[in-house]
Amino acid sequence: MSLQQISSFAAGQWVAPGNGARTIASAITGEPFATAGNSALDVQAMLDFARNTGGPALRQMTFHQRAKMLKALAQTLSGHKQALYDLSFNTGATQNDHLIDIDGGIGTMFVFASKGRREMPDSHVYLDGDLEQLSRNGTFLGQHICTPLHGVAIHINAFNFPVWGMLEKLAPTLLAGVPAIVKPATNSCYVTELAVRIMLDSGILPAGALQLVSGGIGDMLDHLTCQDVVSFTGSADTALKLRQNPVILNNSVRFVAEQDSLNASILGPDAVPGTPEFDLFVKEVSREMTTKAGQKCTAIRRIITPDTQVGPVIEALSARLAKTTIGDPRLETTRMGALVSSGQKADVLAKADIIGQEAERVFGDPTAFDVEGTDTKNGAFVPPMLFHCADPDNAQRVHDTEAFGPVSTIMGYRDLDHAIAIANRGQGSLVTSLITHDTEVAQNVVIGTAAYNGRIYINDRDSMKESTGHGSPLPHMVHGGPGRAGGGEEMGGVRGVQHYMQRTAIQGSPRMLSSLGKKWVPGAPEIQGPAHPFTRKFGELSIGETLNTASRTITLDDIEHFAHFTGDTFYAHMNDDAAARNPFFPGRVAHGYLLLSFAAGLFVEPNEGPVLANTGLDGLRFMKPVVAGDSIKVRLTVKQKTQRTDEYGEVRWHVTLTNQDDEMVAEYELLTMNAY
Ligand code: NAP
Repeated sequence: MSLQQISSFAAGQWVAPGNGARTIASAITGEPFATAGNSALDVQAMLDFARNTGGPALRQMTFHQRAKMLKALAQTLSGHKQALYDLSFNTGATQNDHLIDIDGGIGTMFVFASKGRREMPDSHVYLDGDLEQLSRNGTFLGQHICTPLHGVAIHINAFNFPVWGMLEKLAPTLLAGVPAIVKPATNSCYVTELAVRIMLDSGILPAGALQLVSGGIGDMLDHLTCQDVVSFTGSADTALKLRQNPVILNNSVRFVAEQDSLNASILGPDAVPGTPEFDLFVKEVSREMTTKAGQKCTAIRRIITPDTQVGPVIEALSARLAKTTIGDPRLETTRMGALVSSGQKADVLAKADIIGQEAERVFGDPTAFDVEGTDTKNGAFVPPMLFHCADPDNAQRVHDTEAFGPVSTIMGYRDLDHAIAIANRGQGSLVTSLITHDTEVAQNVVIGTAAYNGRIYINDRDSMKESTGHGSPLPHMVHGGPGRAGGGEEMGGVRGVQHYMQRTAIQGSPRMLSSLGKKWVPGAPEIQGPAHPFTRKFGELSIGETLNTASRTITLDDIEHFAHFTGDTFYAHMNDDAAARNPFFPGRVAHGYLLLSFAAGLFVEPNEGPVLANTGLDGLRFMKPVVAGDSIKVRLTVKQKTQRTDEYGEVRWHVTLTNQDDEMVAEYELLTMNAY
């Protein structure tokens, strides 16, 4: 049988395997079926293509344009899921595993597309945090901004998630405006190659935005500059080797590492047999051990239970694991497929032997287990293996040996402090889960273990129906962890996009900062438009366009009327003496909501026009009380505009209310939806 040729995509060309190509075998049959890699790949041309063609094209687009591009890519991939599933069975993954890898990857891209539209501006500069007041009179301000790096992101991925592993990095990278060169692990690169082909063939991406290395990456890392990023996922050993590259060290190239970790799951002392939490714990642990045949960076490697529950958990878990049918992942009856390769199988068995030096195997025998399906005798199958370590304090290997397969060790704790100490022996994890219904237990465990974890997953009867699972990194939440887990961080919404941008502190005048951030800053010039701003369409309004209203005097009758009309007869508005006893008021004061209502009365233009709706109000502050006899006037300024659809966009207005002495009485941001 001829081997499938898994190509690279370099500098605009597909490059077939050549010298130095590696053979890839099916995880199910052990038969070679593909080949990938070519030592003649011109890595410098790839870097140049990304930096000189892909980067400028991406940077010309706004965040919103790039977000729309991501959505289109995700939709295109969705239309080709079946082809990806069909190919991915060869990696040993079951249909359920595909849902995590392929559907999960596409879903992650959709989330970044949506966050890009909602949380980032339709422009080229991302404002990070609020304005900083750097001067007494406000003529000199500070603002942190983020702009895309001018280099290329090299994504080196692990074999276990050929699609999710690529897309969870690619989505924030492209959204940031940075081109990527993706290098999947060779063992499963054929699935990544198909996903890349689908994206490139769609014509959605600008040239140079995405390239692929199937096989070895050559000396690419020796050509990196301060504008490049390496985002690595894989083993601690490889991470250590790559991050020591002198070019990476000399040029301070960003190096993000997501590596293996000895994640823990803790059973709370309250979660005894008979509680929903006990059953939930057994279910979660068993699922984490068997999904992707345990080849998950987030899988539970250490099961930490009260001493008294070690026996019951072993019994319940063993009963559940015994029901896990192992076999050809294409069979519907199969619950757990194969490891990715025979090499991986040998590695897992060797690591299990090391763990076995400190722990007793209480479930799963790698020399005696059933495998369903024909032609599987040379496949990379192993059974789930559960170990029990009776003395976790004096053990070491169970805390530092990652068997990257369905292998986990149970250990007992005396009290919660002991549980925390055992969990932290992992020396930095991607995730620790805690199954408890007791808030005090949760508080102690979070305070005791958070510094050692990138994520803490707490589950109980209240959240179990909707919870997403110990092992699922979500695009909204940070993925990564300290120490052993690599010290890196990915995703976490816009935080993940920032890893591909430079944060720069900008200092300057309000006029400068307004123009740079496309967001009006108090103190910047006010623009007088040709007509009332409410009569002007979304596209016609300029940032800084301002309406200054006439003033209105507040009377005691107004306050009385408003109080009785609304029912808000709070003493500060009704009783002069009581109000005066309050440290904030000179006597009876107008309701803040009355002032807001009068403000609207002063600034609205009543006729039907482009303002479609008032959709909210942000950051409302009342600064100075208003008493009967005072007058107020309003300044309404276009602060920011965000297009939502082709028909309308959101206008954020900066609104201030001032009194007869020009003192600020109230300040807020008003949101309206305006016709385009
Ligand atoms: P690996 O052997 O470390 O390989 C990871 C990646 O590095 C592969 O793409 C590999 O390519 C590449 N690589 C290896 N040597 C290289 C070199 N000298 N120069 C450039 N690239 C090189 O890890 P793996 O076996 O694929 O994955 C399993 C490990 O990944 C486990 O330890 C697991 O815990 C970890 N992991 C962590 C996460 C996370 O998010 N923290 C996620 C998934 C997996 P080749 O395949 O071509 O050698």
